[in-house]
Order: sequence, then C-alpha cells, then structure tokens
Amino acid sequence: MDDCIFCKIVSGDIPCHTIYEDDEYLGFLDIRPVSKGHCLLIPKKHFETFLDLPVEMMGGFTAALRKVTEAVVKATTCDGVNIGLNVNKAAGQEVFHVHHHVIPRFEGDGLSQWARNTYDAGEDLILREKISSFLKEE
Ligand code: 5GP
Ligand code: ZN
Repeated sequence: MDDCIFCKIVSGDIPCHTIYEDDEYLGFLDIRPVSKGHCLLIPKKHFETFLDLPVEMMGGFTAALRKVTEAVVKATTCDGVNIGLNVNKAAGQEVFHVHHHVIPRFEGDGLSQWARNTYDAGEDLILREKISSFLKEE
C-alpha cells in the first residue's frame, strides 16, 4: 500500500529500530512509546485491521507475539505487559496496518487503566444472547 507508514517500514523506505524479523512478521520499537521498550509487531503483508488478517495467519502472528513479549520482559525486567491491538478509529487505531502493541508495565508506573462500567438490569443477558448468537455453529 503506497501511503502506509508500516508498509514503508517493511520496504525499508522509512527506518525503524527492528527487534524481530521472520519471513512474515516484523517487530520494532514504537516511535512514541507508552513506556520504554514499547514494541510493535506487524505482518509484513498489508492488512488494515485485525479483522482483515486471514485466520491462517493468526497462529503465526500470536507465536511471534509471544517471542517478542518474552524478549521485552527479559530486556526491560518489567513487572507486567499490556498487549494491545486497536481495531478501527473509534478504538484508537491510527495506523491502518494491523499491529500488536507490547507495552512493558512496572509496579506503580502510574499509567492509567481503562475505566470500568456496569450493566443496567438485564442488559448483560441481552448482550450475552446477542454475541453468542453470532458464534453458534450453523
Ligand atoms: P495505533 O494507534 O494505530 O494502535 O498505533 C500506532 C502506533 O504506531 C503508535 O503507537 C505510534 O507511535 C506508532 N508509529 C506511528 N508512526 C510510526 C513510525 O513511523 N515509526 C514507528 N516506529 N512507530 C510509529
Ligand atoms: Zn501497510
């Protein structure tokens, strides 16, 4: 994709600090880290969002994610990790080339967590029914 920043990183047109590479996936430091050691993992092929990535690639993507996460944990000696993947603008996706975030976390680092909500009466059951209906085998 001509106007995709991450495709340009894959092609070498834009530099990055690579931390992992195999035939299909590339890991590199995020240019504006949430915390020091924040890495991104992308498929080398262009897919806009997680939901565009073929199911056959999910296993390889997750295996590479695990390798990167283990290396980040060892390198930063962090206490925890946030693994995140934003899908679409409403969820905060800014670069439309699917990518995992691997963000080292430290006890007392002060980074905010997601705010939590509650269900109105019966709302949880309605959503349970609605979501699971899309997961029932045909
Ligand atoms: P998103 O908001 O799409 O989930 O995350 C995109 C991430 O890509 C951001 O964390 C941002 O800092 C990172 N990013 C954007 N442009 C570049 C770049 O040119 N190089 C690197 N290494 N990271 C980038
Ligand atoms: Zn791309």
